[in-house]
Amino acid sequence: MLAQASRAAVLTAYQEPLQVREYPMPAELSPGECLVRVEMAGICGTDVHLWLGQLPIPLPVILGHETVGRLERLGAGLNQDWRGTPLSIGDQITWASSIVCGECFYCRIKRQPTRCLFRKAYGISYCADDAPHLRGGYADYILLRKGSAIFRLPDGLKTESVVGAGCALTTAVHGFERAPVNFGDSVVIQGTGPVGLAALALARHSGAERIIVIGAPDHRLALARKFGADEAISIEAVPDVSHRRELVLDKTGGYGADLVVECAGYPATVPEGMELCRDGGTYLVLGQYANAGNVEMNPHTITRKQLKIVGSWAFEPRHVDGALRFIERTQWGELFASEVTHRFPLQAVSEALETVRQHRSAKAVIVP
Ligand SMILES: [Zn+2]
Ligand SMILES: [Zn+2]
Repeated sequence: MLAQASRAAVLTAYQEPLQVREYPMPAELSPGECLVRVEMAGICGTDVHLWLGQLPIPLPVILGHETVGRLERLGAGLNQDWRGTPLSIGDQITWASSIVCGECFYCRIKRQPTRCLFRKAYGISYCADDAPHLRGGYADYILLRKGSAIFRLPDGLKTESVVGAGCALTTAVHGFERAPVNFGDSVVIQGTGPVGLAALALARHSGAERIIVIGAPDHRLALARKFGADEAISIEAVPDVSHRRELVLDKTGGYGADLVVECAGYPATVPEGMELCRDGGTYLVLGQYANAGNVEMNPHTITRKQLKIVGSWAFEPRHVDGALRFIERTQWGELFASEVTHRFPLQAVSEALETVRQHRSAKAVIVP
């Protein structure tokens, strides 16, 4: 029998503990909607930034934008997923976290749908006070809107692989589309959180010859080595920026890397990263999703080194499709599953966020 209410973890005030509230279950589904029973919800670094108040969102919000669950009810007309695979009650699914309008300047004319003027993301841009309330993954149930890009997960793919890869992998798939790795490239990855590990896996899979990661703490550097890093530089053991640069130059023939990928999220990593590129190299900035503040830099570096600087924001359904195929078909699926080091019940959500904030986990998840 279907539950009468769904619990959900709600961000009501920045930097305060989340509240577990109950919301009524939808009485009836509109055409194209579906109700999903959440099995696992990833805690993304962005959730910590949202909690800290570094992005404007319409509080109160049910957090959670990387989620796996089972189809509980299907609205009229919803009978296949984004790939055309038939959908039935009980299927295990995941979905793209945002829906775009398809009509605005960026959707239609400039083909930059991630910058859609009316983009809405589950777990981020829906106020929990507004019916039908259940629009975030930290909950027993989530109600998906008509037009959501749903992906039926194949039997045998681990839930942990999908949530462990999370929005970090889809973010990296989009980023590398904008700044590709060429066969034989040297690549530096700044940051060893989920985005850094995802970028590392994709760089290795794309034919990078030498990959150097820079990050902390040690348990994440060890994971980076498992993911295929040739060198792992600890910012704790080597706190001096110029010393880290010497180490990178030493491993790249004295030139710097062909591609440097920023996955750390700290503003100070950006001027450091520009100096780690070879002349004519590319700097892909993925990690500054939240507004973490300003930093002093010398723009002379960009001109003198003839740098190509590339930004990339979020992802489209086709990047989710590519990310899922990647974890289904390569050994990295198992590695992403091994990233899930911490599990929390819904009522321990604030402890889960604190665990992620302090970098104690590789990947923490909510199992409601
Ligand atoms: Zn995320
Ligand atoms: Zn749009």
